[in-house]
Amino acid sequence: MATAKGYAAESADSKLAPISFERREPRPDDVSIEIDYCGVCHTDIHFAQNDWGVTQFPVIPGHEIIGRVTAVGSDVTDYKVGDTVGVGCMVDSCRSCSACESGLEQYCLEGMTATYNGEDRYDGSITYGGYSDRVVVSERFVVKVPEKLDPASAAPILCAGITTYSPLRHYGVRPGDKVGVIGMGASAIWA
Ligand SMILES: [Zn+2]
Ligand SMILES: [Zn+2]
Repeated sequence: MATAKGYAAESADSKLAPISFERREPRPDDVSIEIDYCGVCHTDIHFAQNDWGVTQFPVIPGHEIIGRVTAVGSDVTDYKVGDTVGVGCMVDSCRSCSACESGLEQYCLEGMTATYNGEDRYDGSITYGGYSDRVVVSERFVVKVPEKLDPASAAPILCAGITTYSPLRHYGVRPGDKVGVIGMGASAIWA
């Protein structure tokens, strides 16, 4: 285990405050990431304030994570130390159901494991998010961040941005097409 630092809400009416906690050692398919940036998604605020009644305190929000790889497990093939990478709203799934095999892990029939306030599938621990200095994630749930992208600006793509990018891609929107994005803030990042 490695001691990490983060910002956690201890209760629905407390402000985020510094906390020390433990991150696991990398499993064979894991990537260890030193976090440089993390976007603020409104979901983070909902969880911190327990608006949906499912928050497990203390909660460390953050699922728009950008950082650099500091270590990799023995089976990791896609990443190496020093790579700039991102982590979005999920860190695991069953990996074998029809949804997972189609690359749609967000629809995992057993339920995906959320980046925070989720339950680790192996040890049952509660996951902690990106308002912290490091995170350990299976390489399957890590994305490469192109060098030409400003890493700070890339963070909101990982949740808000993908929310709009996904339907644009699904419906085959092409340059010159007119689309309407209903909503404000980072969801319109592609506009
Ligand atoms: Zn989000
Ligand atoms: Zn699955």
